[in-house]
Amino acid sequence: MHYDVVIAGGGFAGAYCAKTLGKLLGKEGSRRVALVAEWNVMVFHPMLAEVAGSSLAPLDVVNPLRQLCRHVDVLQGGIQRIDWARKILSVDGGRFTRDHEISFGQLVLALGSVTDLSRVPGMAEYGRPVKSVADALRLRSAVINRLEEANLVQDGALRARLLTVVVVGGGYTGVETAGQLLDFMTESRRYYANLGDTPIRVVLVHGHDRLLTEIGAELGDYARRILEKRGMELRLNTRVAEIAADRVVFSDGGLIEAHTIVTTIGNAPNPVVVDLCGQLGLATERGRVRTDETLRVPGHPELWSAGDCAAVPWNDRGTIKTAPPTAQFAQRQGVRLARNIAATLRGDEPRPFRYRYLGQMAAIGEHDAVAEVFGFRFSGFFAWWMWRTVYLAKLPGVLRRLRVMIDWTFELIFPRDLSIVLPPPEDVLRAIHLVKDELLFERGAHCRAFFYLRSGSVRLNAPDGETRLLPKGSVLDQALLDDTGRWRWTAVAEESADLTAIRGRALKLLQTELKLTARPLVEGR
Ligand SMILES: Cc1cc2nc3c(=O)[nH]c(=O)nc-3n(C[C@H](O)[C@H](O)[C@H](O)COP(=O)(O)OP(=O)(O)OC[C@H]3O[C@@H](n4cnc5c(N)ncnc54)[C@H](O)[C@@H]3O)c2cc1C
Repeated sequence: MHYDVVIAGGGFAGAYCAKTLGKLLGKEGSRRVALVAEWNVMVFHPMLAEVAGSSLAPLDVVNPLRQLCRHVDVLQGGIQRIDWARKILSVDGGRFTRDHEISFGQLVLALGSVTDLSRVPGMAEYGRPVKSVADALRLRSAVINRLEEANLVQDGALRARLLTVVVVGGGYTGVETAGQLLDFMTESRRYYANLGDTPIRVVLVHGHDRLLTEIGAELGDYARRILEKRGMELRLNTRVAEIAADRVVFSDGGLIEAHTIVTTIGNAPNPVVVDLCGQLGLATERGRVRTDETLRVPGHPELWSAGDCAAVPWNDRGTIKTAPPTAQFAQRQGVRLARNIAATLRGDEPRPFRYRYLGQMAAIGEHDAVAEVFGFRFSGFFAWWMWRTVYLAKLPGVLRRLRVMIDWTFELIFPRDLSIVLPPPEDVLRAIHLVKDELLFERGAHCRAFFYLRSGSVRLNAPDGETRLLPKGSVLDQALLDDTGRWRWTAVAEESADLTAIRGRALKLLQTELKLTARPLVEGR
């Protein structure tokens, strides 16, 4: 497959670039331009928090690319690599089309950024990201499940942990998600009769002294005052050192016990972009590809970039800055980029990206938002209504707009839905992180998983006082069970440790089908 122009990425930058180019080229666009995206929808990220907070349905926050980008060939697939020398994209289209090649004349890089949770021990295992619709739905299910469990237990400390949510990161995602979850849980508690006087606690942890630094400190301070008034706990200038299944440990030694941890930090450059920069020897700005004012990569006239993966110079009332990584910039850059490509196809000169910043909005809870428009700051229902109206205007087609409007009107009147529709994930292998002295399992408890110790060490304690230290590489399995399938030892982390749990069907297979019988403990295998 060959196209004159391939747009890589179907987010704000890529989708609006494709939509505009399709309009400019008309029917001829379908032969000449392809949009390659991992999913066939554009996700409206700013509203994901409302899906997590059960205030919007998942279909309300996506835009179907095929309907949005007319006169452009939309191809769904994950780009594995860009081979610049051959001008080829290798694309994984799905189970039966793993290795597909698409060649291009010009390439638009609009792949956004990715999340790297590996920097904080335990974050990848227990931190819940909010980057996709699936993440938002999983978080919603987790929060409802915590309410259900809290309603069952008598133990006050456990109930408090179940009703505590820690949100790490005070940028857009963190502030919006924390606000939504606080409202959702507070509003829903009236349906759970056994929660007693245990409070709903939502703690927002941020490494800097001000929230929402992407959109300006003043709006951040404004959001902070409103959130605090609504009962959210804020921990500013606080860094997370480690996370376990039941706690968040801070670098100053403090901790919060919680069973739901949302992570909105760890933004990292897209690996496909990093690889291409390596091939071309391009210098980046914190992983973002540097472009000139026309969104072209200097020295490579066939390469363009926009959105979060690009560092685009922006003239902000006379001062040249790098455009911030926000949706409104990504969208405007996408449109300018399309116009510039159309101009070059006609043999005209591309024009610089210019944008007059109008202001910014962030939804911070049910029917509540903070906004700064033309220098005026306001919050509350009007800001929130404006926010939704702006989104509605961006949806393609009257029918879709009408459907979403009806959904939203229902949601204004009726309480949020508490149904759980996602089955629990069937991850038969699960990564586990333990902090020092954390219990892995107790003697007498039913075995629900076998464990492989990837790093650190685990101490086994027997009731007669005997202890054994298991080093990295040890396996905790059948050898430690009694005839009834219960653990004969108590296992505790001697130091910070990483394990892989073998659960579900994989555990059954090991135990039953392979007829695994008691055998000596295998250490350091
Ligand atoms: C939860 C959340 C809330 C936010 N709230 C706000 C807000 O209130 N206001 C605001 O201005 N900004 C907000 N942002 C930031 C905003 O969403 C981004 O700045 C914007 O999405 C950037 O657009 P983009 O096109 O560069 O990247 P994205 O929108 O991330 O799009 C990148 C696209 O590339 C695709 N892609 C990536 N890798 C591959 C691959 N290998 N193969 C194929 N496709 C690939 C992705 O699937 C995606 O379609 C928020 C972000 C998040 C996550």
